[in-house]
Amino acid sequence: MAKNGVIPPGGTIGILGGGQLGRMLASAAAEMGLHAHIYCPDDDVPAAEVAAHVTRAAYEDEAALASFAESVDAVTYEFENVPAETARILSEHGIVRPGARALATAQDRHVEKSFLTSHGILTAPFADVADEASLNEAVAKIGTPSVLKTRRFGYDGKGQAKIAAPGDALAAYGEIGRQPAILEGFVAFEREISVVVARGADGETAAYDPVENIHKNHILDRTLAPAALTPALADEACAIAARIANELDYVGVMGVEMFLLPEAGNKRRLLVNEIAPRVHNSGHWTMDACAVSQFEQHMRAVCGWPLANPRRHSDAVMTNLIGDEVDGWERLAAEPDTAIHLYGKREARPGRKMGHVTRLYPLGKRPPVTPS
Ligand code: AMP
Repeated sequence: MAKNGVIPPGGTIGILGGGQLGRMLASAAAEMGLHAHIYCPDDDVPAAEVAAHVTRAAYEDEAALASFAESVDAVTYEFENVPAETARILSEHGIVRPGARALATAQDRHVEKSFLTSHGILTAPFADVADEASLNEAVAKIGTPSVLKTRRFGYDGKGQAKIAAPGDALAAYGEIGRQPAILEGFVAFEREISVVVARGADGETAAYDPVENIHKNHILDRTLAPAALTPALADEACAIAARIANELDYVGVMGVEMFLLPEAGNKRRLLVNEIAPRVHNSGHWTMDACAVSQFEQHMRAVCGWPLANPRRHSDAVMTNLIGDEVDGWERLAAEPDTAIHLYGKREARPGRKMGHVTRLYPLGKRPPVTPS
């Protein structure tokens, strides 16, 4: 159905992963007159309720992958740990966006940080850790305090251990299961920000305003849109995100997490912490505060449509509803100028993202929010 790489309304988009991001992508697809086909191995599939088709199968099931690929016009994904072999099989059958290069770069922290620094983008200082000998070398090079992070499969603070003094290094290595890792210098950041950027099939980029993120127990708690930044810093953050998307020849929406350093003379203040090759939790506010959400923007890119203007029409504070916080839905639903989004997950386990609310304010009127 794709003509010159453009998938018109009526086409079907395959989405790997059936969590809340897949659900919001599938809803956006439906709004655009497209059909979503979710591929996911899990039982509780929040995206299934809003998708036209669902395949429940393992990511290693080659026959299921082949028939999924035949039934869709393009494939995208809601999480970055898609096995490389799964992506390879799917790209043999047709369009996979974002492509293999973005996945391979974002899946491994050492590859990711090496890619960034090779393009002149600042990161925390880092060193490779493959065994005890290289751990000791890394501690000598990076110093303490520092953070040991597994190269792969880390998220929301999982697969990380802080090293306060050199004597803690071995215990930290044990804590992360002695897996291949990187040691990162601990960054005394002022604030954490992120940029959600889109890159179209034609290479055009469009970044939403940078936002500030506040974490609780290593999980995103609140996103403040926009981040309180000087115009020069906001432009720099957007330019860094667009540069990464261009260098990866990326197609789709990407989240770029950054640390903002305290002001110190003319020193550069933005370090990139992580690239998420997918729609991002810190972009959920765009559903209610922009004409086109990150989910529609992603689908536009994947389908080769023109990107929308990412302009913000309202200020916003997005708050995640984690675990039993979702029980407060009735009170939240009664709040004025507040959009409530619930993911339809069956069970509210501690740390599980159950939904989010976005409180809207007139432009320039977002209240300053202090970390809790
Ligand atoms: P990550 O999984 O890399 O996104 O890290 C999760 C969180 O840990 C970040 O959002 C930061 O709050 C914190 N963190 C990660 N790396 C560092 C670092 N090098 N220095 C200070 N804090 C960090």
